[in-house]
Amino acid sequence: MTPILPGSTLGILGSGQLGRMFALEAKRMGYRVHTFSPEKDSPTGQVADLEFIGSYEDVVSASEFAKSVDVITFEFENISSDVAKALERIVPTRPNARSLHIAQNRLREKTFLQYHKFPVTPFAKVDTENSVLRAVSALGLPLVLKTAGFGYDGKGQSIVRTPEEAIAAFKKMDVEEAIVEKFIQFDFEVSVVAARGISGDFAAYPAVHNTHRNHVLDVTIAPAILNPSLEKEATEITKGVMEQLDYVGTLCIEFFVTSDGTLLINEMAPRPHNSGHWTIDACVTNQFEQQVRAICGLPLGSTEQVKPAAMLNLLGDVWSNGEPDWSKVLDDADAKLHLYGKKDARPGRKMGHITVTASTSDEAKQKVLRLKHILGIQA
Ligand code: AMP
Repeated sequence: MTPILPGSTLGILGSGQLGRMFALEAKRMGYRVHTFSPEKDSPTGQVADLEFIGSYEDVVSASEFAKSVDVITFEFENISSDVAKALERIVPTRPNARSLHIAQNRLREKTFLQYHKFPVTPFAKVDTENSVLRAVSALGLPLVLKTAGFGYDGKGQSIVRTPEEAIAAFKKMDVEEAIVEKFIQFDFEVSVVAARGISGDFAAYPAVHNTHRNHVLDVTIAPAILNPSLEKEATEITKGVMEQLDYVGTLCIEFFVTSDGTLLINEMAPRPHNSGHWTIDACVTNQFEQQVRAICGLPLGSTEQVKPAAMLNLLGDVWSNGEPDWSKVLDDADAKLHLYGKKDARPGRKMGHITVTASTSDEAKQKVLRLKHILGIQA
């Protein structure tokens, strides 16, 4: 297949921070970038060559966007199948519409993973009060109830401890179907970001250790201190999932690691991921350049990590007393500030991140803890 070379136009569907970092890499490499989303002056639109405005459900305007580019990729997977298929008919879309369709719904995703014998959190579909009770007796309590579709970062999730709580939480959700998962008493969480090219070539970054606050990623430490056989297993699982999906692009799989050393897939993201942002400042090729290379049919770059690193997410809460004093952060000569160009710093909104590099991952972690203290972020 002929590669899509610099000078060509890459389309990114979605316009948040992932699209922005993708666009910055693509432009550095000499590509033009068009973005499509309902938002004006978006984080991606601010750095792209052209910003198409339209609804993710609108086949006509999405098709106009598709006609203006040489290949389409995604930073946002929650688009309707109709739109994804319409785009595929006009221009190559990488990853494919099937990968998006599976990854945008937790039930489809977990069913797919279970069918292909990948280790996944025990789960059940719930759509009636009776099915909730059946799930309670099959999986045991506590359980985590989640919306099946269009959920991310813990949105639409609750932990339930009794059958009554489970029924009440399902009713409150007011949806036709949802998913319940066994509550996993994990030791810690890791993720693997990897890329797969058009000819099936594969390259993974080292597994990283993630901690969440209020179900949202707070800190990533890279690399994770992980038993080499578990690291290998996590990478092999990621490779296997990408092969099953005939995936092209960057993808992330998040795992729970239980106390007996078992890996369970919590979730996958069909795009670059928040837990891979550190690759910008600490790897030979970062996850966004890797996405560009993969979707353009170029060889994948080296995923070698040059330095240990840690990443701290900056949520809107950090702005509660106005613009933070970044000089205090940048006082650490190894700290890299990334802000996404979002004007409205709502609590919980991802506004930016900081990556620090150090000579060991523990030192990087200590630096991040210091930054959290300076910025008034709770431990
Ligand atoms: P998710 O949006 O599904 O990635 O969930 C966000 C975070 O909530 C995860 O990274 C975990 O920290 C926690 N969580 C989600 N599902 C479970 C589960 N089944 N058991 C324990 N913790 C969970």
